[in-house]
Amino acid sequence: MKYTLRPAPGGRDYAAELNPEQYAAVTTDARHALVIAGAGSGKTRTLTYRVARLLECGVAPWRILLLTFTNKAAREMLERVATLTGTGAGQIWGGTFHSVANRILRMHAQRLGYLPGFSILDGDDQRALFRALTKQFAGKTVKSDRFPKAEVLQSLHSLAINTGKSWQQTLSSDYAHLQKHEEAIGKIYEAYRTRKMESNAMDFDDLLTNLVKLLKEHADIRADLQQRFLHVLVDEYQDTNAPQAEIISLMAGGHDTALMVVGDDAQSIYSWRGANVDHIFEFTNTYPDAVVYKIEVNYRSVPAILEISNAAIANNTRQFAKTLRPARDNGAMKPAIIPAPDNRTEARFIAQRIDELMAAGIPGKDIAVLYRAHFHSMDVQMELTRNHIPYRITSGLRFFEQAHIKDIVAWLRLLTNPRDEVAFRRIVSTFPRVGEATAGKLWQGWLTEAEAWMNLHPTASVIEEPHSQVMAKVTVPATLRPIWSAFLANLDTLHPEDKELTPTELVNLVAGFMSDHMKATYENYEERLEDIGQLTRSLADMADLDSFLSQVALLSEVDTQTEVDPDCVTLSTIHQAKGLEWKIVFVIFLGEGLFPHYRVIQSGDPDDLEEELRLFYVALTRAEDQLYLSYPRYNGHSYDSQFCPPSRFLTTLPEELYELWNL
Ligand code: ATP
Ligand code: MG
Repeated sequence: MKYTLRPAPGGRDYAAELNPEQYAAVTTDARHALVIAGAGSGKTRTLTYRVARLLECGVAPWRILLLTFTNKAAREMLERVATLTGTGAGQIWGGTFHSVANRILRMHAQRLGYLPGFSILDGDDQRALFRALTKQFAGKTVKSDRFPKAEVLQSLHSLAINTGKSWQQTLSSDYAHLQKHEEAIGKIYEAYRTRKMESNAMDFDDLLTNLVKLLKEHADIRADLQQRFLHVLVDEYQDTNAPQAEIISLMAGGHDTALMVVGDDAQSIYSWRGANVDHIFEFTNTYPDAVVYKIEVNYRSVPAILEISNAAIANNTRQFAKTLRPARDNGAMKPAIIPAPDNRTEARFIAQRIDELMAAGIPGKDIAVLYRAHFHSMDVQMELTRNHIPYRITSGLRFFEQAHIKDIVAWLRLLTNPRDEVAFRRIVSTFPRVGEATAGKLWQGWLTEAEAWMNLHPTASVIEEPHSQVMAKVTVPATLRPIWSAFLANLDTLHPEDKELTPTELVNLVAGFMSDHMKATYENYEERLEDIGQLTRSLADMADLDSFLSQVALLSEVDTQTEVDPDCVTLSTIHQAKGLEWKIVFVIFLGEGLFPHYRVIQSGDPDDLEEELRLFYVALTRAEDQLYLSYPRYNGHSYDSQFCPPSRFLTTLPEELYELWNL
């Protein structure tokens, strides 16, 4: 028989803070549960309260695994849990699939043939490697016959893995126009895999697939983890891809493990990265005992915003039927549609309206401008700057993707993993007169010596003797000798024999080595120094280099790390705005061809068009109080002197649901 322990006395009154549907999900003892509900209905809140409640019921925090779409989301949820329960939630495993995979692989990657201290290649590193390999395997074809760029090779490779198909299948289904290059692509992919292994490095996709492999092939590790986790909870389940769904089923495969996933099929917007909305549709098939909870109240938005969002998504055919009732009273204004004469004027409207709202006392942090593609934000950025309105951008280049930060991180990576080819090449290519070919020769020399040393010291994971000695025999062209010796001497400084330097000390030293290169390369040298200052500040509480480097690599994927300034307006792509909310939301560039994107219109693929509409739905449902939808009738940037009709997403909205603002 099953005997349920009550929460400890003095706990929270969950029934009072949740509606009955949420409460039922929070307190369920179903082994498998799916919470499926529309935007703003408190799915994330339900998960947060469930974690708090589990702790109150005596579940040890280290037996809970919380998977979220960004590491930031996990942090925020766990902070919330800590306030709810009044105790630390520190030992809960929370984060993205990638970060959890990294954590497990750090312990067990040797079982898969990796060496300790593997590096993580981010998108930029991957592209660098693909570029080098393209040169090697498709050298002549490249110029003559439109050989795919590194970006394309990377997307194709990644899409195949994340949809669980072979790259050949993906090539013929999604990249048919590249089929004539199949042979060369195959060689490049094979070499790519070998080079990664030789570099003791994993890319983001490897983190997922290697975890799957580890769990499938190593019964002891699988059993260990399955016994460890009593509760696996997943937010934004609609955006899981094939390896992620497999990880969930493996991690939650224990006898006593309960699994709760929450999601909204209408918000699935990552199919281009292999996410498959079918996982949510099929949850009850995969887990026949699953209990389904539906929340039908929306707490986020005023009724007028909810109505327009419901009307928009109603045009999609394939979805769980959901009715959302508003919990809030109506606000002061209907959603506004604003046709602007052109993109500059649209931006001027946004800036002026934000200025008014802020003057009326609404803090910048409650306002967001959302768009489909990063470059759509250009005019708004300029106008906000002109009007002295502070903003932060969560799309575009992120902190750790910037060249100068990556240069510094490369030194640290090479120090912890002497086989890291990408890091090595990055460092030596900052030396004057070193091109791809020279870098390749230096790498061969370096690698030979590194391997020789490591073979003599099989227990060491890094080179523990001064590099100036270990690398003394590397052949170096005469002109490069002074700089090569300086490089080795610098590495020696980073690795003093008597003590281990902290990450902060290391970064400061490397910044010193790099300063000449930076002054010569970057016009805004001073600003870049400030970034490095920021880097050392965020490192201050980080004790060891390995965990710092994994964090850097994982952060650069979907997270934003710059701290939120309370007065700053947010500029974000809609993809990055998932799960978030603001009092006031502007959605810009809603012209046909801009959103939905003209490529989707041209392809005529109904699935792609439905995904565009879901993206639009995600944008609308971010708004709590006020919603502004604007478009430029004439767009000077992307359509030379072209007229731009309003998006079909706007023209299909019932007129009574919005107000037209004429500028
Ligand atoms: P999305 O689909 O966008 O991820 P969601 O379903 O995860 O949305 P939440 O972000 O959890 O929704 O909640 C939306 C807002 O509604 C939050 O501000 C949350 O605090 C509030 N909310 C949710 N449930 C309740 C409730 N029972 N009482 C009061 N406020 C609530
Ligand atoms: Mg949510």
